[in-house]
Amino acid sequence: MSDLAVRLEAPNGQSWVQPTGLFINNEFVKSVKGASLESIDPATGKTIVLVQAASAEDVDIAVKAAQKALKSGPWKTMPAADRGILMSKLADKIEQKASLFATIDAWDNGKTYAEALATDLVEAVSVIRYYSGWCDKVSGQTVNLPNKLALTVRQPIGVIGQIIPWNYPLSMATWKLGPALACGNTVVLKPAEQTPLSILVLAELVKEVGFPPGVINVVNGYGRDAGSALAGHPLVDKIAFTGSTSTARVIMKQAAETLKNITLETGGKSPLVVFDDADFEQAIKWSHMGIMSNQGQICTATSRILVQENIYDKFVKAFIEEVKQTSKVGSQWDEATYQGPQVSEVQLERVMAMIEEGRKQGATIAHGGSRIDTPGFFVEPTVFTDVTSKMSIWHEEIFGPVAVIRKFTTEEEAIELANESSYGLGSAVFTTNLERALRVSAEIEAGMVWINSSQDCDTHVPFGGVKQSGIGRELGEAGLDAYSQIKAVHINMGTKL
Ligand code: ADP
Repeated sequence: MSDLAVRLEAPNGQSWVQPTGLFINNEFVKSVKGASLESIDPATGKTIVLVQAASAEDVDIAVKAAQKALKSGPWKTMPAADRGILMSKLADKIEQKASLFATIDAWDNGKTYAEALATDLVEAVSVIRYYSGWCDKVSGQTVNLPNKLALTVRQPIGVIGQIIPWNYPLSMATWKLGPALACGNTVVLKPAEQTPLSILVLAELVKEVGFPPGVINVVNGYGRDAGSALAGHPLVDKIAFTGSTSTARVIMKQAAETLKNITLETGGKSPLVVFDDADFEQAIKWSHMGIMSNQGQICTATSRILVQENIYDKFVKAFIEEVKQTSKVGSQWDEATYQGPQVSEVQLERVMAMIEEGRKQGATIAHGGSRIDTPGFFVEPTVFTDVTSKMSIWHEEIFGPVAVIRKFTTEEEAIELANESSYGLGSAVFTTNLERALRVSAEIEAGMVWINSSQDCDTHVPFGGVKQSGIGRELGEAGLDAYSQIKAVHINMGTKL
């Protein structure tokens, strides 16, 4: 075994050889400065393994490898259909190793193994498979004009820097890799420092299925070092980022230096509106899942629940009962667990600080509100009521299992409160009145509206935000626009000067 691989055995008994290097030019390599970062099990706080951490020098090497693969060699000349075959093979390999990937992400991130297998892995496979089919279908138009023929070709943007978060480590990587590869770009991907492991196993598969060297490079590392070096690198043509709005602002500034193309998928404080004519049980189930699943660590989490006045008391009571019944907190390996640990100590402390601020500002903690006194980063699922527009918990993304519930009287007031946010990512409307559902969904300022559900996400459907929740769309056909650019070719058909 090389010194850049370690045999690991997870608490569920699964064992594998974990690569620990940076992945550049299809090889696992040491970082130039020999720096490393720690992968930590959030359920125990103990170190799983150390992996290599990239500095600006490593990022530079990776970007140059990606540029070389873009400009010359097999990737550039490969028929688009063959690119699709490579991607399809990669999807098959991920699927074959689904339980291993689910184990790794559960251990590294703290999400339940069951959830990782049923959600993250299904999504990861389907995204790569979906975009494999697009490779040979990305084409331009012909435009007939007097004495001239014009045509458009869609070309790759170039070297793409992809900076991804820790909440869905593997599937976030596939969301970004899928359309980038389908359009013929090359990639330097920086995973989040909290979750470096699954992407390195993916890198092994990249080589195994036969992607040419330099097409996909993985540089684990810290945001302020590797992330920043990538966002500011002059040879990177585009930055695609998913993470917090504050980090997105920093990245946008850096990208501005060389006017890079950008896609940003950032924070949210998504509203979920329950009208009194809604199917009550469905509203309770979805609103619980919308904020409590994945430990509340979802950018689209429907964290602001708005309930019509005449069903408000009944709703709050039933919601808390649902939390008590469903949100069982425990280790990521226990089949009965709904809510595992938060991803890190820092993240847990952020959640606790927000809960404390809500309490101090006068909101009522109707349920939960405390850190759980056990090793690992566990917090009680928490429900706030008596929330006002002045409070931080109403405006700021908590990124934890913390719901705020608020009352409204009329449809107009519901819309006003729903839009009272600098964010605009997801939104949900519960009603059995179709006209109202469509009226409200038209008025809500959000990139996505779920009618009578929450958190629907599908490979085939565009995903993204408005306002300060982001720029651009991922997934679906719209995802291709983010990774291709149109060139116009004018052909003179006989006009003489
Ligand atoms: P969080 O605060 O939840 O960790 P971030 O938005 O900071 O969320 O992190 C999302 C991703 O952005 C991670 O991969 C992280 O390393 C990266 N990142 C953080 N800061 C920077 C930065 N200044 N430049 C580039 N990438 C960064």
